[in-house]
Amino acid sequence: MPPTHEVFNQPPALAGHDVAADPAMLDALRREGAGWAEAGVRELGRRAGSAQAQEWGRQANEHPPALRTYDRFGHRVDEVEFHPAWHSLMTVAVQHGLHAAPWRDERPGAHVARAAGFYVWGAADAGHCCPISMTYAIVPALRHAPSLAARFESLLAAREYDFGLRPPDGKTGLLAGMSMTEKQGGSDVRANTTRAVPAGNGLYSLTGHKWFTSAPMGDLFMVLAQAPGGLSCFLLPRVLPDGSRNGMHLQRLKDKLGNRSNASAEVEYDEAAAWLVGEEGRGVRTIIEMVNMTRLDCVLGTATGMRAGVTLAAHHAANRTAFGRKLADQPLMASVLADLAIESEATTVAAFRLAGATDRAAGGDQQEAAFRRLALAATKYWVCKRAPAHAAEALECLGGNGYVEESGMPRLYREAPLASIWEGSGNVAALDALRALTRQPETAEAFFAELDQAAGADRRLDQAIARLRKEVSDPAEERARYLAEAMALALQGALLVRYGHPAVAGAFAASRLGDDPAWGHAYGTLPSGTDTAAIIGRATPEIPG
Ligand SMILES: Cc1cc2nc3c(=O)[nH]c(=O)nc-3n(C[C@H](O)[C@H](O)[C@H](O)COP(=O)(O)OP(=O)(O)OC[C@H]3O[C@@H](n4cnc5c(N)ncnc54)[C@H](O)[C@@H]3O)c2cc1C
Repeated sequence: MPPTHEVFNQPPALAGHDVAADPAMLDALRREGAGWAEAGVRELGRRAGSAQAQEWGRQANEHPPALRTYDRFGHRVDEVEFHPAWHSLMTVAVQHGLHAAPWRDERPGAHVARAAGFYVWGAADAGHCCPISMTYAIVPALRHAPSLAARFESLLAAREYDFGLRPPDGKTGLLAGMSMTEKQGGSDVRANTTRAVPAGNGLYSLTGHKWFTSAPMGDLFMVLAQAPGGLSCFLLPRVLPDGSRNGMHLQRLKDKLGNRSNASAEVEYDEAAAWLVGEEGRGVRTIIEMVNMTRLDCVLGTATGMRAGVTLAAHHAANRTAFGRKLADQPLMASVLADLAIESEATTVAAFRLAGATDRAAGGDQQEAAFRRLALAATKYWVCKRAPAHAAEALECLGGNGYVEESGMPRLYREAPLASIWEGSGNVAALDALRALTRQPETAEAFFAELDQAAGADRRLDQAIARLRKEVSDPAEERARYLAEAMALALQGALLVRYGHPAVAGAFAASRLGDDPAWGHAYGTLPSGTDTAAIIGRATPEIPG
């Protein structure tokens, strides 16, 4: 080996660490009622940090799914082929109940435990979390058709990953998808043109196109279509109960910016058989229950990406020297890393507060349901908006190495904008928060009751809440983004002030809530005097010696 190839000042590979060694997440897990799940979450966290899981994530993204429309004889097959690594990721996720399992688990905190598993295991790969999330999310919507729920819910919740084209009733576990978006519009689903014609025996025949349908290799799809009584929601099986293929043709897979391990298809429904879910004409009200569940996972998945980014950045900076000092000890780099860590913790505490609200709302708590309605829309808007800049800054902490695929950073960066697009794009999410605020006053009451619990704890938080109350008193559509941002920041601040590490809470309030301009618009502009070492320490992973 020529002497020029001596390797020094490069960090050790980040593998073998416990992704769940995350103080903000573990505190939130206990606080939100799922302390009983901690050992399992830690086990999954070690698995997510293992070299094996990281390799699965890499392989599943470097060998993306391929569509086989026809077999060699010309028969349509409409199947998606995946690398074995994808199936390994899915198997672990399903075995750990990260899909619909909490809907069949009576324990208080079951949804929080699932949220923690989703949060840590998502570090292995974001793409496969999409079908896992949709399978979780379908259950509340499906319950609008009690006989279908009775038939399929236990299979959706089963901890067996059973891939392949077979009738749903005969499988040991099912996966679900959602099919709403058409070429002419995804936000405005009322413009859907797919038609549903009654076909007798409670069945309908669906004909039309869908421009985006992710995870088309699933078993059951919640589809929106125009029935005689208006836009309605349908459950569509890929394989019919008699074993024949339904009229669901996969036309193309999208060539996506990120999320490459997962398949997202254009689908033609050609007289496809489907069951009505809920009443005719109430399709949006029915499917919104599914959308509201996937929105929680947009927040959780964003928290996962931020944590992964700052962990990689902190690890690099702890092991790399420039200008005679570790990068992590350079005051300006410390400010960048601490700022990224603060954003990550703020996202994590909000995500878990929303997971707790989901759990309690599922148990019948109306106050928590009202809080969740508003807080989720605002939080989804804001944290997803923060993600791309967060990923870019974390990437830059590695310098040129961060721009190179094998660092893992480019994958995080490409994934980062997605959660803001699907399940209600930025404007749509902000407008939804505004709609809840103006049309469902009980949501605002529940939201401000939550903020009030932190009153008096921090002057800057009190000021931010006062500003928010003023803005809320005269809400305007063109201010919806500002409003959603202010709500999400106030919620994050209130949670951090009550439960966070004092250095994190103090720096968050100083930078994000105060009315003095001490904070710039880029990450890494924290006020002097911030205890950056304490904050970075919480994000720096320990790798076994
Ligand atoms: C990778 C990927 C996977 C997807 N998977 C699925 C899936 O499984 N199932 C599915 O049904 N869909 C899926 N989608 C589609 C996604 O949900 C839509 O792209 C999204 O809802 C936006 O719809 P659109 O693309 O038609 O954009 P449009 O609805 O045309 O919106 C364009 C822009 O206008 C903004 N806008 C819309 N209305 C307003 C308004 N009133 N005021 C101000 N601004 C507004 C939006 O925020 C957006 O920025 C997927 C998308 C992606 C990228």
